[in-house]
Amino acid sequence: MNQSTSPDRDGQAFSARAGTLLERLGAPAGATLVRAPGRVNLIGEHTDYNEGFVLPAAIGLEVWLAFEPWDRPRVELTSAEFGETCALDFDDLTTGHRQAVSWIDYVAGTAWAMREAGLPIRGFRGVLDSTIPVGSGLSSSAALELASSWALADPSAPRPAAPRMAAIAQRGENAYVGVNCGIMDQFASAAGADGHCLLIDCRTMEFRATPIPEGLSILVCDTGSPRRLSTSEYNTRRSECELGARLIAEREQGVKALRDVDAAMLSRNRSRLPEVVARRCEHVVQEDARVMAAVASLAAGDLDEVGRLFAASHASLRDLYEVGSTALDAMVEIARDVPGVVASRMTGAGFGGCTVNLVHNGAEEELRRRVLAEYPARTGLEPRVFVASAVAGAGPILAGDLTR
Ligand code: ADP
Ligand code: MG
Repeated sequence: MNQSTSPDRDGQAFSARAGTLLERLGAPAGATLVRAPGRVNLIGEHTDYNEGFVLPAAIGLEVWLAFEPWDRPRVELTSAEFGETCALDFDDLTTGHRQAVSWIDYVAGTAWAMREAGLPIRGFRGVLDSTIPVGSGLSSSAALELASSWALADPSAPRPAAPRMAAIAQRGENAYVGVNCGIMDQFASAAGADGHCLLIDCRTMEFRATPIPEGLSILVCDTGSPRRLSTSEYNTRRSECELGARLIAEREQGVKALRDVDAAMLSRNRSRLPEVVARRCEHVVQEDARVMAAVASLAAGDLDEVGRLFAASHASLRDLYEVGSTALDAMVEIARDVPGVVASRMTGAGFGGCTVNLVHNGAEEELRRRVLAEYPARTGLEPRVFVASAVAGAGPILAGDLTR
């Protein structure tokens, strides 16, 4: 499927989709609408679980959930994407090994984690729809969790701030669904800011919104590559990083995670690390530095430097972290030759998924045209190109939004 989706948060398309959702629910008068965005990481890959820095933006590809609360301790939810209605009873919310993960488990995990955190939850029936491609690394799962958190929340209790809510949703995905993800996805979906990316300190959970420079668009190119970083590969990378941090900490003060290691410290200790562990550490240490450099370059309007940092991140993920793929390389190579493309690199965990591109306004169509023309011939795969403007984090859709 070749398509370009631009966010339709305003105007008729938005109202039409909201209307359809409410119609499906069969209760236009009483229903509430909430939305939660997917995200794309501009730079800072595999740094979150090393307590370092990431720079994602919440994007205008979103999960929408229309719901009516009721008094029963139960959720009945229809996913338009999956054409399926699933139920969950709050009495059944216990962690444990799931045979197969169903999409409702992401909702159940959020409900479970909210209850564990002492937040009152209430049941509802609802319908959800989404413009986020599922399983492409744009965090449809986190968006589903954050939308669910709004629907599940008992409005009589104060809502925790976005970073706290993100941590609760992450706990649900980790402990209940059994996916060992970092905090970035939920954080971006919860705390996104219109026109901004978020510099997130994954140790302290502090964050700072950083403006996307005027005149730049974010384009996401999905490689359509079925191969994604498997759970075992992901877990291997995590333990290699933990081992590296532990070995360095034997000789260096104050090292709790790779976040605490700088280039000089790594080079002093390099010979004591297994070769593969040294390479993983080198990626993480340099990638953290690249995040800070990218924030400074974006603020200074030094787009050439942003381009160099994206290129270095891509190469490091390919050569040092070894999570690249020929499909990701092809996508980046095509983009780099298109006039007006400022920066391009693989985004997400790797092995497949998407690239993120910063593009001067006006060059979007040319990038899409070139990708659609050249990428299938080079890879035999079908790409998709999304214009992904940076949007606000999850929350209710107000009546005013619908008539804008
Ligand atoms: P990603 O978050 O990168 O899109 P994941 O594998 O983490 O990929 O999460 C995808 C899962 O999230 C889906 O398999 C499904 O269980 C759930 N999900 C995402 N979007 C929807 C949706 N619109 N309806 C129902 N479930 C969804
Ligand atoms: Mg996910």
